[in-house]
Amino acid sequence: MRVLNYIQGKFVEPSSENWMENTSPSTGEIIGSLPLSGDVDVGSAVDAARNALPGWSALEPSERADWLDRIADCLESKHEEIAYLESLDTGKPIALSRSVDANRSVSNFRFFSGMIREQEDEMFEMSDATNIVSLRAVGVGALITPWNLPLYLLSWKVAPAIGMGNTVVCKPSELTPLTADLLMRVVDEVGLPPGVVNLIHGNGIAGSSLTSNPEVDLVSFTGGTSTGAKVASAASPQFKKVSLELGGKNASIVFSDCDLEKTVEGVTRAAFLNQGQVCLCGSRILIEDSIYEKFLSLFIESVESMKIGNPMLEETQLGALISKDHLKKVESYVSLALEEGGEIVTGGIPCLPKDLAGGNWMAPTVVTGLAADSRCSTEEIFGPFVTVHRFNSESEAVGIANNTRYGLAGSVWTSDLDRGRRVAENIQTGMVWVNTWLHRDLRVPFGGVKDSGVGREGGRWSLGFFSEPLNVCLKHN
Ligand code: NAD
Repeated sequence: MRVLNYIQGKFVEPSSENWMENTSPSTGEIIGSLPLSGDVDVGSAVDAARNALPGWSALEPSERADWLDRIADCLESKHEEIAYLESLDTGKPIALSRSVDANRSVSNFRFFSGMIREQEDEMFEMSDATNIVSLRAVGVGALITPWNLPLYLLSWKVAPAIGMGNTVVCKPSELTPLTADLLMRVVDEVGLPPGVVNLIHGNGIAGSSLTSNPEVDLVSFTGGTSTGAKVASAASPQFKKVSLELGGKNASIVFSDCDLEKTVEGVTRAAFLNQGQVCLCGSRILIEDSIYEKFLSLFIESVESMKIGNPMLEETQLGALISKDHLKKVESYVSLALEEGGEIVTGGIPCLPKDLAGGNWMAPTVVTGLAADSRCSTEEIFGPFVTVHRFNSESEAVGIANNTRYGLAGSVWTSDLDRGRRVAENIQTGMVWVNTWLHRDLRVPFGGVKDSGVGREGGRWSLGFFSEPLNVCLKHN
């Protein structure tokens, strides 16, 4: 499959005629190619977005919401194709692609359509004047996304951005171009006005060209923390609006009064969903001393029962890692864990059929005995690798949870909801679940603190980020 850039309503080749290969994570085979775009392609896409801006931002919000609904309907009709392409491109299990990636891509457009229809100006009365505050488009948006939840995250940005009247240039990860291309086919099929949504394929060269382009007014970036720093330093001198959703090293805190069965299930899912390649994954498991041995053995049993293999099989629970480089990085932490004095309780190379031999495979790995401040326990690994720690008190658990430069998410498992809330409120993070994980209400803010990012998206926070408030003060006669 060869994908093309989408600029001004047309699928076009890169101006340089440079291409990259797209490789299947589960087999290692080359499955297609994508443009390796540069400044010229980015410039054309930004010009297209700039030209489309006056007409698009002048539409009534309800008219733009109608367009979001058309995109949602068309995406929904391609539900199975989305799931197939996402599993092919990322190596994730097809059941996950169907239930999470495909479903959320549709619901992102539906949800923001509803919010944009409900959006109203705010009035602030004074004794002698009336203030009217309305939300206006910011301008041209750059939307840059990672490979772990490709269409899920791209649609999470495109829907509110264009819904609020902006026009956009998307830059999906070079490792997963297929569903971004599908979204452009959908945009084309529904007949969205040319230039409202444009897309550039390529690597960080295209990404940095986009963030430093002076005609780009805002940047919404989701990806790694070190890339986020580069994005911020390119965008800030030009005073662009920037939202950064970055890495995480989240704790799952298990108290002795938890519901054991539900907690084992929840903590396993939090640790290894999408092979541990979700920014919200609970990669540090903190267990209260009195149930440590019991919980650990139930957890290991649950981890070892997970079915790893061909992503296209319905029963598969764990697929492949995204790339050879990423696999090497995650594996390097296994050696590091041993150097740091840890014990690998389960993990290794899974036994798989021959046709998967060229893929990027690693069994879910659990490490005990590491200090809470070891590198393995504090750095983002972003793979099927978790460390397990003991604690004796709430304050000790909170201390371990906070002992990292990241602050994205976390979960607390206890039958005492007062304690659950108290502990959650003491973790330095953007989101904490109590007795659940990744239970998402699209109305709530999403994002992190410390090195996990700047700003929030989600619900009205997305509408706020993708708009500028204008205050008009009318003095009474
Ligand atoms: P990455 O930072 O390598 O790449 C993300 C995107 O940025 C890609 O499209 C890439 O091509 C582009 N890019 C690379 N260099 C750039 C530059 N200099 N300027 C602009 N763009 C550039 O991240 P990744 O490896 O694709 O994704 C994994 C990371 O994403 C993990 O750290 C994970 O925690 C994070 N993530 C965070 C969230 C969140 O919401 N906080 C969600 C998903 C993933």
